[in-house]
Amino acid sequence: MSKRSAAGKKPQTKLGHLGRDPALYRGFVNPPAYRGSTVIFPTLASLMADDQEFSYGRICTPTVKELQESLAELEGGDACFLSSSGLSAITAVLLAFVEAGDHLLVTDSVYKPTRRYCNEVLKRLGVETTYYDPMIGAGISELLRPNTKLVFTEAPGSQTFEVQDIPAIADAAHKAGALVAMDNTWATPLFFKPFEHGVDISIHAATKYIVGHADAMLGAVIAKGGRSVEALSAIHDAGGMCPGPEDVYLGLRGMRTMGVRLERHQTSAIALAEWFAERPEVERVLHPAFPDCPGHEIWKRDFLGASGLFSVVLKPMSKEALAAMVDDMDLFGMGYSWGGYESLILPFDPRAYRSATTWDAKGPSLRIHAGLEDLDDLIADLEAGFDRAAAKS
Ligand SMILES: *Cc1c(COP(=O)(O)O)cnc(C)c1O
Repeated sequence: MSKRSAAGKKPQTKLGHLGRDPALYRGFVNPPAYRGSTVIFPTLASLMADDQEFSYGRICTPTVKELQESLAELEGGDACFLSSSGLSAITAVLLAFVEAGDHLLVTDSVYKPTRRYCNEVLKRLGVETTYYDPMIGAGISELLRPNTKLVFTEAPGSQTFEVQDIPAIADAAHKAGALVAMDNTWATPLFFKPFEHGVDISIHAATKYIVGHADAMLGAVIAKGGRSVEALSAIHDAGGMCPGPEDVYLGLRGMRTMGVRLERHQTSAIALAEWFAERPEVERVLHPAFPDCPGHEIWKRDFLGASGLFSVVLKPMSKEALAAMVDDMDLFGMGYSWGGYESLILPFDPRAYRSATTWDAKGPSLRIHAGLEDLDDLIADLEAGFDRAAAKS
């Protein structure tokens, strides 16, 4: 039935038909959220042979399996593993591929908590991390050492939006015997196909667009190739990285509408970025679809679309003026995460944690998530914000 009808179909069709099989669930359209630890074995022989599809709640449930298979299929990978957050998916990947004495290359534009894990936990375990310029491309070959096991990429960076040349990096890494992992959260499985560009392991904070409603925490790792799949399977089982049943259900439910939501996030973000680009308060717009963004040409070459997250660098503005703008927004919320239906605004300053590159913006920067609200209302909210800022300066 449904799964069969997804085979060979276009992505939008797959979103609605993967990961469900009404015949298995007494005709109901959606697989239920299986809650459970114990799975009963009928006989001693079955227990000894461990011959059931499901053996224990931590390892897998039917709901987990539906979402894992769906995401692996959408992205074109061989296997998918779910975890309790995007960050736990990232740390599982790091632990799966490096050990004491190994070297790791990580983009300087990486999600900040990934950097913290490398600097604190991996360092303690005897793994050395070198950060590299996200725009390094093929130049990464000079940083690869005999003990470099993994090159960690993220494109674009989720604050500063450098689009990395993933094929060039993957080519150099593979020649040196290293695997390539990518945090593909921004593009989702719809807008970037990591395995067609040389990536071995793709990671998603499913918390963002896959869940899509800011109501669950969920991570996913998708791997291609025997070496990656085996290492991840081992760390997943040994480490007990299982997500909560309700969150997995919400991931499956979010996936159904991810395509239409992303179309809207994409058009609204581009329209907002165009609006910002015309404002006198704005120094620079960092959106991969705009020529001012580092790696814009790479985005055009490799990506199939743009999601709803981008940044703007403002001209110098006092703290009071910035606070007057962001404190009283009507629709834009201020807070972490993104990918939900709602618009967000987040001032940020990467100067404190960059190490391979410098961030030289003179004014404050704002990260914007374009939600699904009416565009005119969003623009009016931002315009009023700039008016409040002007009144303070
Ligand atoms: C949010 C985020 C994560 C972490 O996801 P959580 O589910 O919040 O742990 C990882 N990478 C990127 C790019 C993110 O934006």
